[in-house]
Amino acid sequence: MDCIFCKIIIGKAEAVFLHEDDLVVAFLDIMPVNEGHALVVPREHHERVETLDEATYLHLFKIGRDLMRQIQTAFADVTAFNFIIANGKDAGQEVPHVHLHIIPRKLGDGFGYKFGPNYGKIVSIDERKATAKKILDR
Ligand code: AMP
Ligand code: ZN
Repeated sequence: MDCIFCKIIIGKAEAVFLHEDDLVVAFLDIMPVNEGHALVVPREHHERVETLDEATYLHLFKIGRDLMRQIQTAFADVTAFNFIIANGKDAGQEVPHVHLHIIPRKLGDGFGYKFGPNYGKIVSIDERKATAKKILDR
C-alpha cells in the first residue's frame, strides 16, 4: 500500500494527530500555509469524495468545523479560514486520499487563489440559465 495518508492512519508513518474517531482522523499538515493548518481525512482510502458514504462525508466537515474553532482559540492572530478539498489531480490534488484542508488565515499571509485567463468575464443571465440547464437536465 503506497498511500502516505493510509500509512499515517495505521501508524506506519509519523504525524501529529489532533483528532481520531471511527470515521475520520485529523493531523497537522507537514507543510502548513500557517501554523495550525490541519487535514481531516477519512480512515477508509477513497481517492475522491464521490465514493465516500454520506455519514463519513458529513462527519468530515463537522470535525473540520470543530477543529477550526479550536485552532481559532489557539492563535489570536488568525482572523479567517479556508476549507479546501482538491478533488482530483486537475484541481491540484497531490495526495490521492480524500482530505479536507482547514487553513487558518491572517491578513497579508500571501496565500490565495490563482485565477486563470478565463476568469474576469461576467456571464449573462441567459448564459447562466443555459449552464444550469446543462447541469439539471439529466
Ligand atoms: P493536496 O494538494 O490537496 O493533495 O494537499 C496535500 C497536502 O498533504 C499538502 O498540504 C501536503 O503538505 C500534505 N502532506 C503531504 N504529506 C504529508 C505528511 N506525511 N504528513 C502531513 N501532511 C502531508
Ligand atoms: Zn489512503
